[in-house]
Amino acid sequence: MNTIKILTKSPQETIGLGKELCMLFRPGDIVGLYGDLGSGKTTFVKGLAAGLGIDKNSLHSPTFVLLNIYEGRLNLYHFDLYRIDNAKEIALIGYEEFFYGQGISVIEWAGNLGPLLPKAFLKIQISIIAEDKRLFSLSAKGSRYNELLEEFSTHSKRVK
Ligand code: ADP
Ligand code: MG
Repeated sequence: MNTIKILTKSPQETIGLGKELCMLFRPGDIVGLYGDLGSGKTTFVKGLAAGLGIDKNSLHSPTFVLLNIYEGRLNLYHFDLYRIDNAKEIALIGYEEFFYGQGISVIEWAGNLGPLLPKAFLKIQISIIAEDKRLFSLSAKGSRYNELLEEFSTHSKRVK
């Protein structure tokens, strides 16, 4: 299983998708989010956080900080790279400790990682289809994420 497409029709459905997916995560998993401003990246992260037992009111869009850390069943490392000019800024905060640690890393604007983009991660591209509709394209980079999508497609009612 390499790519799965899912349409959500409300922010609540996007949160639900995040909750469902995070049940399949293992320590050290990495998720890269791609999509325009307002596509729903932060909304999706709220779903991941809820699924990890993190109070979603403690989650805000880290627009002025590169990284927020939340403690839950697994720790969530939430990066927002919208404002970085250069991948070097990420190198300076010691990103490896998070990406290759025991929590879950989720990265908004993962394309800004440039050469620091991990070899293996779950790539999620979000497209705005209509005011309340978003198309999620989940694609596996690396065999671990092929397995994750396989498991998701077997168990999820969202995948037909
Ligand atoms: P990003 O982090 O990609 O800039 P946000 O999650 O902050 O985006 O904002 C997404 C906006 O789109 C919110 O105002 C949300 O209410 C709205 N929205 C409408 N429909 C959806 C949907 N299906 N999924 C996610 N967000 C949606
Ligand atoms: Mg955001």
